[in-house]
Amino acid sequence: MQNAAFADSAVGGAIRSLLAETFAGRLPAGYGVSTLPVSGEPQPDGSMRWGGTDFVLGPLIEDGNPLAERFELRDLSLVRRIERDGDRATGVTVEDLRTRETSFVAADLVVVAADAFRSPQLLWASGIRPTALGRYLTEHPVVITTVALDADKMGRFATEAQLDAELAQRAKHAADPVAAVNRIPFSEPGHPFSLQVMYSENTPFPLPEDSPFLGNRWGFVNMGNGLRKRPRVEDGLTFTDDERDYRGFPNFTVDYELTDAELGEIEAATADLRQVGEALGVFVAEPRLMPNGSSLHYMGTTRIGDTDDGTSVADPWSRVWGVDRLLIGGNGTIPTANTMNPTLTSVAIAVRGARTAAETLRSVG
Ligand SMILES: Cc1cc2nc3c(=O)[nH]c(=O)nc-3n(C[C@H](O)[C@H](O)[C@H](O)COP(=O)(O)OP(=O)(O)OC[C@H]3O[C@@H](n4cnc5c(N)ncnc54)[C@H](O)[C@@H]3O)c2cc1C
Repeated sequence: MQNAAFADSAVGGAIRSLLAETFAGRLPAGYGVSTLPVSGEPQPDGSMRWGGTDFVLGPLIEDGNPLAERFELRDLSLVRRIERDGDRATGVTVEDLRTRETSFVAADLVVVAADAFRSPQLLWASGIRPTALGRYLTEHPVVITTVALDADKMGRFATEAQLDAELAQRAKHAADPVAAVNRIPFSEPGHPFSLQVMYSENTPFPLPEDSPFLGNRWGFVNMGNGLRKRPRVEDGLTFTDDERDYRGFPNFTVDYELTDAELGEIEAATADLRQVGEALGVFVAEPRLMPNGSSLHYMGTTRIGDTDDGTSVADPWSRVWGVDRLLIGGNGTIPTANTMNPTLTSVAIAVRGARTAAETLRSVG
């Protein structure tokens, strides 16, 4: 994860300068305008190597690496059940989706990281049902807009020649849609939102043939203010044992509602985004709240907590309460409100849990 991925972009730099002017004196030190940290390494040819699964697995999938010999990745396989002996997890039952055959995989430690909906569902299906399982669902509401960058405003901080050079460089790697991304992180009390500003040559939706924005020379920004959804026990998944879903797991319904706390911040986030848009150019799409769930960043359903008091599913080291040798990972572990991409937070929680788990495994031999 690093901040420098888009630092060389002159267009990105001009956008940052305009944002810095707009927010001058309003943001605390260290929480100002910057490039968005991303999991991507700029390459010498100007392309970006994004941190995909291959990057995460690293040596585990390298031919000839001794670690790779001890690693197996099974495709088209569905974990059906976490198996236990008393209060200790002993492995999983896996279904091969090609043959429909199931087999037992024994394990010293079981880690469930099947996303914020399907991890709690798998625990439920396995009869592991802490009170908080599936509850405290959050995401971050997001107010978005698209703005055509204004030549006069951008021209104060970047030249036409710089724009030409950037467009030429971008054209070399046309398959990668991600150009400069800037942000203003969350800070209280003045800026309780995460602003992400993505530069793009095109709008994310087709423009009508007579649109004055078609071919806008300086391009566009697609941007959004993410804001908090306070965790509440009322928001969450309700499982049923009487009905199966499309995979044959216990079905569930989702309850989720915004409260006055969120509605007030949505209004403020919309006004804030309007001001940002005016500083950069002309609105192609008005600032608007996306429907519930649009962030795709679902959290809280297997949240960690300090004590086993019914408001969490696992301890701070991701160990599921009441079941030895069972860990939980992924965005579901995040217990607090969050305003933007949750991946780095859940990775931090997972790393902490993994270190402790490794110590446990070493101690038991
Ligand atoms: C379109 C999109 C764009 C995103 N962009 C960003 C971004 O720019 N930056 C960022 O930080 N985050 C981004 N995210 C969020 C990021 O993808 C998630 O935060 C992250 O993948 C969540 O990790 P997870 O482990 O909770 O779940 P996942 O990554 O969803 O992993 C769960 C895995 O478990 C598997 N699974 C489920 N049930 C079973 C079962 N019973 N047996 C076996 N396997 C099972 C699933 O197939 C899946 O592979 C984006 C998400 C989406 C959808």
